[in-house]
Amino acid sequence: MEKPAIMTLDANLQELAPTLEAIRSQGVQHHIRGSKTASQSGKRFDVHSPVDGSPTCQVAAGSRTEIDSAASAAKEAFGHWSRIDGSQRSKILHRIADLLEQNARRIGLLESWDTGQPIRFMSKTAARGAHNFRYFADKVLSARDGQSLPSPTLLNLTTRMPIGPVGVITPWNVPFMLSTWKIAPALAAGCTVVHKPAELSPLTAEILVELCEEAGLPAGALNVVHGTGSEAGVALTEHPDIRAIAFVGESATGSDIMRQGSATLKRVHFELGGKNPVIVFEDADLDRALDAVIFMIFSLNGERCTSSSRLLVEEGIAEEFVARLKRRIGNLRIGNPLDPATEVGPLISEQHVEKVLSYVKIAHDEGATVAAGGRRLAENGCYVLPTLLCNATSDMRIAQEEIFGPVLTVIPFADEEQALTIANDVRYGLAGYVWTRDLERALRVSDNLQAGMIWVNSHNVRHLPTPFGGMKDSGIGRDGGDWSFEFYMERKHIALATGKHPIPRLGGN
Ligand code: NAD
Repeated sequence: MEKPAIMTLDANLQELAPTLEAIRSQGVQHHIRGSKTASQSGKRFDVHSPVDGSPTCQVAAGSRTEIDSAASAAKEAFGHWSRIDGSQRSKILHRIADLLEQNARRIGLLESWDTGQPIRFMSKTAARGAHNFRYFADKVLSARDGQSLPSPTLLNLTTRMPIGPVGVITPWNVPFMLSTWKIAPALAAGCTVVHKPAELSPLTAEILVELCEEAGLPAGALNVVHGTGSEAGVALTEHPDIRAIAFVGESATGSDIMRQGSATLKRVHFELGGKNPVIVFEDADLDRALDAVIFMIFSLNGERCTSSSRLLVEEGIAEEFVARLKRRIGNLRIGNPLDPATEVGPLISEQHVEKVLSYVKIAHDEGATVAAGGRRLAENGCYVLPTLLCNATSDMRIAQEEIFGPVLTVIPFADEEQALTIANDVRYGLAGYVWTRDLERALRVSDNLQAGMIWVNSHNVRHLPTPFGGMKDSGIGRDGGDWSFEFYMERKHIALATGKHPIPRLGGN
């Protein structure tokens, strides 16, 4: 394994330079049936780094034509990949994990450059991707397992088979890790994949497919088609050979995909937006709660679906807690994401900065106060200061809408009942965080929170066997453990007669 140390900004920039140079000179193509492929139309789009706004390279813009060839490659490869011995499939997935670990630095640096996410987090992205592959590599042999449900006359068995070629559509915030989260279980199940990465941060998808093939994944088992959601994305979700779509992105896009996939009766798995509450009661370990609140909203630039973007704090401690929060926010280190000291990097794009800062104006208009940040770090660049919005009420837009940036909205509450009412008073239901030393209260609140995932006295720590996903407008379906296989596989029932039981005879002898 490589040394994980990534020491200084200069060293990181130097190490990244050859990768960037290669990408710049060659551009990024689609990857279909084992080969780099340009768009038939010749269309390309520019990708800019949020680090300094400079153009990184040009990327092929796919359309229905490229989706057609990728879907047909995936369909062909499915015939082989779905049938090969499970132990062989498992070995290939383990080898992919090895290669991701060996290329961890290259992947981390490029991901940081492409997304603006600090290297202190992105240096672990390949390792997390490898973990996803290893976990599902170990589960391959049990993927087809089923039940025996005998009746008096039949031996009833259930088994599972892979659903077919699937589409995976990923967002721009942490694209590498999120794509492995989808692609690893799909391949483990025996499905083949057409991946459509986000157009704002498409670079590491190419490394993933190349390493998968280097590890022995057959050509066509994983294909990548770049392009916009409105062209490549729509074509993928409408394609008749694609049996299911695993999508991570905005709730509104989820609705579009459901509509687009309806004619071909697509199975869909959605991981969508969130407006997650962190509820801090007076009796909590306030030092740990403070660390978690700050980490869960400002790490990954707040561009994180599970970010705790609403702080619900009990009235008796609100003033002191917010004062401490403000001091800590003032200490956050904002800067070049490739600098290992950086804690908050630039947002993904100028357009996103405008969206995030528009909520500062909305906060003013709604009568909330901006207690920290609320503006850019400098005139240029996508750097937004970590922002704290106080004196908010639950009906305000800043408390209802997903801002997806380093912005925390604080709402005090009087008692447990009010905390729950506020927490559940949003259209989302992805994650919730509860801080209290009272076990009964922790269980009561967790039981009543409308969220797919709840962490008590903890920040978000992912354990792969547990279900990941949201309720309400935050998603449909769960990832992780066997839940992933339930999505990528069809459950089948086989009934075997155990004797010659009477069969109703029609039409005489
Ligand atoms: P987005 O919905 O704009 O785009 C996501 C992907 O969908 C991109 O690849 C895009 O090209 C594609 N797309 C867009 N329109 C499409 C269409 N009509 N048909 C098919 N594909 C289409 O989301 P984003 O801005 O890239 O990402 C941010 C969002 O992702 C936030 O809402 C965030 O909460 C969510 N997210 C959720 C999770 C989760 O696990 N719940 C994780 C990360 C991000």
